[in-house]
Amino acid sequence: MRARKRIIITSIVCIALAALAYFAWLFPFYEFETNDYTTSLEKLRSVDYLNTLVPLLIIIALSAVGIALCVWLRKLMAKTDKRYSRFADVRTSRTTGNAPKQKPAVFMIVRWIVMIVFSFVMIWGGLIFGLRMSSISIPILSCPWNTEQMTESSCYYLSHLNELFELPIKSILIFMGSTIGFTILLGRAICGFLCPMGLVQDIMDKIRQKTKIEGIAMNEKMYGALTPVKWCMVLIFVGLCFAGGNFCNFCPAVAVSPILAGISTSLYVSGFLMILVLMGGFFKRRLFCTVCPLGYLMGLLHKISLFRIKKDCQACTECGACYEACPMGIKMIYTERGKADVTDANCIMCGECVRCCPENNALSVTFAGAKIYTSSREKIMSGYKRGGNHYVRK
Ligand code: SF4
Ligand code: SF4
Ligand code: SF4
Repeated sequence: MRARKRIIITSIVCIALAALAYFAWLFPFYEFETNDYTTSLEKLRSVDYLNTLVPLLIIIALSAVGIALCVWLRKLMAKTDKRYSRFADVRTSRTTGNAPKQKPAVFMIVRWIVMIVFSFVMIWGGLIFGLRMSSISIPILSCPWNTEQMTESSCYYLSHLNELFELPIKSILIFMGSTIGFTILLGRAICGFLCPMGLVQDIMDKIRQKTKIEGIAMNEKMYGALTPVKWCMVLIFVGLCFAGGNFCNFCPAVAVSPILAGISTSLYVSGFLMILVLMGGFFKRRLFCTVCPLGYLMGLLHKISLFRIKKDCQACTECGACYEACPMGIKMIYTERGKADVTDANCIMCGECVRCCPENNALSVTFAGAKIYTSSREKIMSGYKRGGNHYVRK
């Protein structure tokens, strides 16, 4: 009970810190103006809003068709090629969704609540508070807050550095300082807790689990095949930053958050990419995150981030459950035999490795040195019951 209390308190402190960091970043130099809409309902009830949603509905429908086609193709292959069928059985048994059911950890509940609340605020906050920002807006994936001036959101400036440097020096310093400070404070926990694109992908994974459709478990070779895609994305992002192009045309988030907030956007390739993100996220949790350029850039500061993954190598029995559960395919958490700090640049602090680790205290998520989530044999065993002489899944 004491441990539970400690987790709740630490989680609340984390949320408060995240919120503080977030708003400390926002308020010193942002100018608010009143929206044309006094309440969110006024806009959300309008026919205009429904019209704006049409492209998103088409994207969702096309993704559903794509997923159905993939499932059908896989069934066809399994029927016609027995080797594929056996291969598919082995591979799909390793997906995160197949971990034994267990009592939900407070860390996980808090993570979902924070993700949903932040996504809600990022998408509809501007409408609900009847505000828009006339200066640089909320960080990453937040164009909806700038209801009329999308080009001035801060993720716009992150991808258009040439324009950022045209701002007054004070704004540049605050922008750069707060961006780096925020990344140090939270690191890629931003991906695990705050990013709406992460939430969208986690929801797709949950839908797959509920529909009992097998996912795809990726091995190192498959992750390796994605590496060139990641580098292309990073090159496009960084290249356009300096060359003056518009990364927003490639950003899949443009096909979701502004549209949900009732802003018509030109989708260019972002709509197509969003279909791939939804389909990919359905079969493989957080697939887009493995190639996301923003995630990669945030990962560059992972060595000084306050969130860490710690491992007690003495307690580890080398079962590999953590590696199989990790949506980012981080092998080090399983293979490391000496170091206590196993935080990787790709780690999004989702806590899946800790959830699936069967050894007490072998893996932990820590914040500023304090353990906020620790692996527990008791939790794992809560997913099993006695079946004769052995244990079976509940
Ligand atoms: S990797 Fe990119 S898409 Fe994924 S959660 Fe992080 S910022 Fe969002
Ligand atoms: S190492 Fe653990 S916390 Fe990090 S991404 Fe993998 S499963 Fe999530
Ligand atoms: S799940 Fe835990 S016990 Fe198994 S390899 Fe990973 S750290 Fe070690």
